[in-house]
Amino acid sequence: YKLAVTDALTELYNHRFFQEKMTENFSLCERYGNHFSIIMIDIDHFKKFNDTYGHQSGDCVLKQVANILKKYSRISDIACRYGGEEMSIVLTNTNKEEATITANKICQAVRNNKFILANNEKVNVTISVGVATAGINGEEVQEMIEYADKCLYKAKESGRNQVVAEID
Ligand code: GH3
Ligand code: MG
Ligand code: MG
Repeated sequence: YKLAVTDALTELYNHRFFQEKMTENFSLCERYGNHFSIIMIDIDHFKKFNDTYGHQSGDCVLKQVANILKKYSRISDIACRYGGEEMSIVLTNTNKEEATITANKICQAVRNNKFILANNEKVNVTISVGVATAGINGEEVQEMIEYADKCLYKAKESGRNQVVAEID
């Protein structure tokens, strides 16, 4: 079972598990009023990174970003590889404010980390982050993901290396 829900490279949960957990959290939200949030993460200029340092070093960075996510996640949080160089966290019982604080901690931790490449060189990497909360930013799975994606897009537009939790 673990293999079926785990991404091999990062050892985060996979996309399918992310979708399952979203559906489950929405059910709990409707039935018991449990709030929850999601964080969407995308590595900045990662195509250029691969072009510069090679795909193998890109994979090293993906693993290290994943470890930062794990470090800043609580036991009840589900950290996933959403796809490619995009990662997401489902934060059970977490409101907008708390999710935004966690998102900022992760963004800062990545910014301050020295990433070790395949040849042992150390480099800096940044991420852009979007946040969405059930109820406030979406009444169903797809709507909530779209909101987080729009926040992420705004973070990119605003210069990357930052968290956006509201769109106009
Ligand atoms: P932006 O700051 O706008 O996000 O720019 P970007 O270059 O990161 O965005 P884009 O979506 O154009 O490129 C994503 C890159 O991520 C392209 C692809 O080569 C790389 N990538 C996706 N999955 C993997 C992977 O598993 N390993 C490695 N090394 N690179 C990956
Ligand atoms: Mg991307
Ligand atoms: Mg990217």
